[in-house]
Amino acid sequence: ELKRAKNFNAGPSALPLEVLQQAQQEIVDFKGTGMSIMEMSHRSKTYEDVHNEAQELLRELMGIPENYHILFLQGGASLQFSMIPMNFLQRGQAAGYVLTGSWSEKALKEAQLLGETFIAASTKEGNYRRIPSLDELQYDQNAAYLHITTNNTIFGTEWSEYPDTGNVPLIADMSSDILSRPIDVSKFALIYAGAQKNLGPSGVTLVIIRDDLVERGTQDIPTMLKYSTHAKNNSLYNTPPTFGIYMLGLVAKWVKQQGGVEAIYKRNLAKAQLIYDVIDASNGFYLGHAEKNSRSLMNITFRLKTEELEKKFLEESKQQGFVGLNGHRSVGGCRASTYNPVPVESCIALKEFMEEFQKKNG
Ligand code: PMP
Repeated sequence: ELKRAKNFNAGPSALPLEVLQQAQQEIVDFKGTGMSIMEMSHRSKTYEDVHNEAQELLRELMGIPENYHILFLQGGASLQFSMIPMNFLQRGQAAGYVLTGSWSEKALKEAQLLGETFIAASTKEGNYRRIPSLDELQYDQNAAYLHITTNNTIFGTEWSEYPDTGNVPLIADMSSDILSRPIDVSKFALIYAGAQKNLGPSGVTLVIIRDDLVERGTQDIPTMLKYSTHAKNNSLYNTPPTFGIYMLGLVAKWVKQQGGVEAIYKRNLAKAQLIYDVIDASNGFYLGHAEKNSRSLMNITFRLKTEELEKKFLEESKQQGFVGLNGHRSVGGCRASTYNPVPVESCIALKEFMEEFQKKNG
């Protein structure tokens, strides 16, 4: 019998079993070609269809308007931290960053190397327990762009509404909540996400970028670091991460089969609720990190009263087949990442384990 872990890894993380099984079937002979997708030319018609189909599925699922390019890049979300200011932070302008966690800090740090920046809001004081309200954001219409991190993987907070930034391009790191809830793409000038949480394996970075921004980008920077290079060449300027893009396409097809983003969102709400309910009913045995109205549906962060108890919790969880419940190495504590592919059954099992653990140790 197939034994699958109850996988709550923060990324790379669980993939849908159906996707893995299809990839397994196709790995020695993709559609009668006698080879895997990894072994064929990225200039072949067979590969090109896979590449374009993945884009089309994303466009349909996320409702991406026609005036946006969908790019498959490399270098992770971390390279986007640099490419964004390289392309869009011109002399005489300043770029605004909203600090909601470690990843926004890292994004800001890269921009500081390249030009003028400012902090449009920060919730660092109070240890990133919340998302700022929209009226806390401070920036003017001359800003080069405003950067936000829609889900904070380490602290477990998530934006539930996004600012209307007028003429200021809104740029979002959606690495840990892309495709998990319906969003209005037209509010954003650029969206980026490493694939390894909701979209597929690591190695592909999805970038969704509005046409006018592509045109506006700095031209005297290295070819591979210009969005225009990749937009003009449909992400085939050089060899793309073909296997990762194929997997991303399979994951997108799976999301569609599940009923699309709206259905996935409903399921994500229910999954997260199962675990937040245990925290809220625990009389302080489990201490949630995020303020309630900033809670993430993707990363549920909590602590126990003592480090010894946390250690015991994590050890026992491992014995019961749970994987990845430890918090990020920078903050400790516990974290359950409940991305799209994590099945409801895993969340029910976690809820029961948490209740049982409290009974025995409370
Ligand atoms: N942004 C966020 C919100 C993340 O969660 C991560 C990775 N966990 C990154 C950026 C960095 O992504 P990568 O490892 O793909 O560079």
